[in-house]
Amino acid sequence: MTITAAFIGPAGSGKTTLISSYSEWLRRQLFMRVAIVNLDPGVEETIYKPLFDIRSIFTLKTIMKKYNLGPNGAFLKSSELLIENLDLIFSSEPFNDLDEWDIVLIDTPGQMETFIFRPASSVFFEKLNKITNIVLVFVLDASAMKTIADAITLWFLSILIQAKTGLTTVPVINKIDIAENVELTRMIVEEPEKLMDLAKKQLSEGFISEIIPELFAIATKTRAPLRSVLVSAIKRIGLEEMHSLIHEAFCTCGDLT
Ligand code: GDP
Repeated sequence: MTITAAFIGPAGSGKTTLISSYSEWLRRQLFMRVAIVNLDPGVEETIYKPLFDIRSIFTLKTIMKKYNLGPNGAFLKSSELLIENLDLIFSSEPFNDLDEWDIVLIDTPGQMETFIFRPASSVFFEKLNKITNIVLVFVLDASAMKTIADAITLWFLSILIQAKTGLTTVPVINKIDIAENVELTRMIVEEPEKLMDLAKKQLSEGFISEIIPELFAIATKTRAPLRSVLVSAIKRIGLEEMHSLIHEAFCTCGDLT
C-alpha cells in the first residue's frame, strides 16, 4: 500500500527542503517510486519537481490580485479554494492512481495556521484518508528551540495536531546542524522524562510550571507515537531514521493487508 506523508509545520521550518532531500534519498537508496504534491500556493520556486502543483489552479499572487487581499487574507482564501477544487485535485495524478507510487510526499502551505488549523485540512485529509493511510510529519525548527519552554510548547503542539486531525503524527526536529541548544533537542527525542524534570526544577514559577505535571502525564501516555527524530534537510542527516519512523507510524495507523 502506498505510504502518504503530509509535511506540516511552521513557515520556514524546512518542509520544502526536507521533502526535496528525502525524496532524493528514497529514490537513490531504496529505489522507491516517489510522487511529490505541492499544496503551497505561496511558494515562488520548488526545489523538487511536483507531480501535482496547486499553483496550476491558483497562486497566492493571483488570489491577492483577484480578490484584492493581502498575503494573510489570500492564504485564508486559498484554503477555501482548496476545498472548492477538491474534485479536480483528486482526479489528477498521483491521487487518481495511488498504486503507481510507493510513497506520496505532500508539501503543505507555509502558513501552517491557515491550513492545519482550518476546516480545509480536515476536508482534504478526510477525503484522502478514504483512499490511503496518511502519516503527518510535523517539522520543527531546532534553531527555534532555545529554552525549555520553547521545547515543551513545540513538542506539545505535535500532540494538539494529532488531536485536531486524528492522524498519526511524527515530530521531526530539523536544522540540527544549526541548533544552539543541541542538548535540549536531544532530550526531547531521547529522554523526555529528563526534560520534564529539568522543566520542573528550572521553571519554578509561572503558568508553564503549574501545568508541567499534567503535560508530563499526557506526554507519557502519548509517548510511543510521539517518538521523534533529529534531522538536517540541508546536510542530509537523519533521513534513514526519519524514514523508519514514518514507516513505523504508517504500519501502526492502518491495515496493511
Ligand atoms: P518551509 O517554509 O517549511 O517549506 O521551509 P524551507 O524548506 O523553505 O526552508 C526555510 C529556510 O530554512 C531555507 O532558507 C532553507 O534553506 C533553510 N533550511 C531548511 N532546512 C535546513 C537545515 O536542515 N539546516 C539549515 N541550516 N537550514 C535549513
